[in-house]
Formats: sequence, C-alpha cells, structure tokens
Amino acid sequence: MPIRWRLTLWFSLIVCAILILSGVVLHGLLQRYLSNEVDNDLRVYSARVHGTLNPKEMPEHLDYDVIHANLPPIDEFTSPGIYIQFIDRSGNVVVKSSNLGEQELPTSPSLISKGFEGSVGIETVAAGDGAGVRIMVSPMYLMEETLLLEVAQSLKHIDAIMSQVRWALLAGILLAFTMASISGAILVRRALSPVERITRTARSIEASSDLSRRVGYRGPMDEIGELVTTFDHMIEHLDRVFQSQRHFVTDASHDLRGPLTVIRGNLDLLKRDLGEEDRQEALRAIGAETDRMAGIVNALLILAEVESGKVELQETVSLRRIVLSELRRARQLARSRKIAAGRQEDLSIKGDVHRLKQLLGNLVDNAIRYTPEWGTITLSLFRDNGWARLEVVDTGVGIAPEHLPNIFDRFYRTDRARARARGGTGLGLAIVKGIAEQHGGKVTVASELGKGSTFTAWLKL
Ligand code: ADP
Repeated sequence: MPIRWRLTLWFSLIVCAILILSGVVLHGLLQRYLSNEVDNDLRVYSARVHGTLNPKEMPEHLDYDVIHANLPPIDEFTSPGIYIQFIDRSGNVVVKSSNLGEQELPTSPSLISKGFEGSVGIETVAAGDGAGVRIMVSPMYLMEETLLLEVAQSLKHIDAIMSQVRWALLAGILLAFTMASISGAILVRRALSPVERITRTARSIEASSDLSRRVGYRGPMDEIGELVTTFDHMIEHLDRVFQSQRHFVTDASHDLRGPLTVIRGNLDLLKRDLGEEDRQEALRAIGAETDRMAGIVNALLILAEVESGKVELQETVSLRRIVLSELRRARQLARSRKIAAGRQEDLSIKGDVHRLKQLLGNLVDNAIRYTPEWGTITLSLFRDNGWARLEVVDTGVGIAPEHLPNIFDRFYRTDRARARARGGTGLGLAIVKGIAEQHGGKVTVASELGKGSTFTAWLKL
C-alpha cells in the first residue's frame, strides 16, 4: 500500500477513534444526567406523598378513596409522566393516580419484597414494547396497615433523546471520518508531491541519462524541501563530475592522439628510402613524442593516485629541506634565469615527502617554463597564521584574469600551442592542487599579465 494511503488511513482512524471515545463519554454522561433527573423527580414526589398523607388526618378505618383524594396533584409541566400507585400486602393495587387510567404499573417482585421489608428501592422495570419505567418504592404505614407506595416515571422520552443522540453521534463520526479521509488524502498528497517529483525526475534521468534535469522545488524549507534541494545538489554535483570526466577523457585522448599522429607519420617516412639526415630527424621526432606521451601517462598516473586520496600523513617532512633541494634542481634547469631563495623558515609538517617534492617541483617547472631567460624565480617558505606558506614567485608572462579560475583544472592551458611547445601537459597544476588538498591545504595564485605570477601552497602546520 502506498505511503500516501497508509498515512491517510492512520490519520482517519485516529480521528475516528478520538470521536468514538468522546461520543461514548458524552453518551454516558448524558444518560447519567437524565437518569439522575428522573430519580430526583421520583424522590421529590415520593417525599411529597409521604408528607401529604398524614396518618392523623386519616379516618379511623383505612379508606382508599380518602388516600386517592389526598394525593398531591401531579404537575404535568414540571414533572411530566409521573404515576403513583399503592399496593397492599397481597399485591393488589389499592390506590392509583388518575393519569394511569385503566393501566397499572409493571410489577417487580424484588422491588415489592424490598419495599415490604421496610426499605426504599428504585429500579427500572420493563413495561413491554421495549419501554422502561423507573419505579421507586417506599413503605407507608397507614393505621394498622402497611401499604407500598410506588412512584414511577416512564423512561420513554429519555430513550427517545438518547436514541437521537446516538444517531447524531454516529452521523457525526461518519461525517468526520469521511472529511478526515478526504482532507487527510489532500494534505498528504500535497506534502508528498515533491517526493513524487523526485521519483519522476530520478526515473527520467535514469531513462534518458540526462543529468541536466532537476526537480526545481519552490516551497518551504521543511524536511521534504531539504530532501528535494539536497537531491538537486547531488544531481548537480554528479553532472559536474560526469562532465569533467567526459572532458577529461576527451582531453586525454586528444593529447595522446597528437604524439601518436606524429609517431605514425614519422614511421611512414622511415619506411621510405630516406637520407641519413632525414632518418635521424624522424627518429628524433619519434623519441620526443614518445617522451611527451610518457610524460602525459606518468602525470595521469600521479593524478589518479593523488585524486584517489591515498596518502600516508604520518611522516614528519621538513619543508625547508625540500625547498633547498628544489633550489638546487631549479638552478640546473634555469639556464640564465635567476633562482633566488626568499624568506626561509625551518618548518615541518606531517605528510608525504615525495608528493610534497612533486608539488614544489611542478610549481618551479611552470615558473621556469613561463619565465623568459632574463627573469627571476624566487622560492620562499614561512609561517602564516597556523599555515606553512610555500611560495614560488616568477617574473614571467603572467596569466590573464579570465584564465585564473580555471588553471587548476585538468588539461587546462591558457595557450595550448605555447604550453605544448614548452613541454607542458596541462596536468601539472591539477596535481599540485590535489597534493595540497591531500595535506589539508590549498593552492592560490596571484598573477598579472606580462609581469609575473605568485603561486602559494598553504599547508596546515
Ligand atoms: P602545463 O603543463 O601546461 O604547464 P599546468 O597545469 O601546470 O599545465 O598549468 C596550466 C596552465 O597555467 C598553463 O598552461 C599555463 O598557461 C598556466 N601557468 C601555470 N603556471 C604558470 C606560470 N608560472 N606563469 C604563467 N602561466 C602559468
């Protein structure tokens, strides 16, 4: 059964149960109140009869006509349907109120024997046709005789009221149940409609593999709102990851196809009858392109490893030592560029020494690659607010502001041809970013076109 129906059913059943319970309580209270009213009327009237029939004012011999004549009047407006009768010891009705006519009150042997034993009793006695009569008996000592006074009232009007109340309650409960079911169904449907939209969107994404679809929720940010928004964010994230994955595969294939084409072309050339010089040139080109491919594949492997997040961060690594060895390496590669040591502090962090060397090496390689021969490259290491800042500053070509947000993306190059010509793979900065993040840090860049760039790796101390 769908959750929508289950919730509606539960909601309606609970409303129904509450109504039935209140109905039962109301019914019981009303019944009790009305019964008490009847009993009070009977008691009051019985007391009046006892008060009126004073034995001293009776004739010497018991005269039933006198008793009848002395009965207090029955007010049909204040206590309607009150009947009186007297019974003698043999069970005969000797006196009865005129409103009884030819009829007599129904008898209850237990009530009569109780009365003749001297106590007052009150009981509901069936009077045929399902109607009940409430009868109160009390002994009455007149002269030498004991008579039983029976004061009674029909319960027909109470039964009629209670029956109407029962029907009204039943109708009310049924109406409330129907309304609760309908309104519950509408409410639950409205509350769950975003969930249905999620399901529809998820199905359509699954069917079409189109991750650009969204649920597009516009409502209150309650639990359901948050679920829908989280779902949309998740799809957005997956979309970005898949897109970047697609671009990555395209870019990687593209970058590998270039060298392969050159190798293929040169192999075709070598099949022909070439002069020694051309043959050497073809072999040299094949060698260079093979190196480039090896470089790309190597960088891809490092990137995959870095992005898989596997790293041992237990080892204490002296960053100063890494900077010193990088200064030495850079001086060998820099030709006439000046490699300067900036501010140097003795800082160590927990990390992976090979990865950190790779990080600095990539930044220095880029600085050399994009700085003219007369430029300067400065390496600094210092503490800044709980971070170790590793800075590579160059006075090279710089990066245009529109490229700055993307240069850490895989295969992103501001100038593809120039970068390739200088031996770049477009993966260096992606690796730098991955390593910095592995060490709980980040990389930032500040650059001005034509003036130079500053790359800073922030590593948590
Ligand atoms: P590449 O292997 O092409 O250098 P990177 O990921 O290392 O790839 O760098 C991405 C791009 O960022 C480069 O193509 C280059 O345009 C730019 N870049 C990186 N470092 C520098 C720098 N120090 N000066 C100027 N441009 C740079």
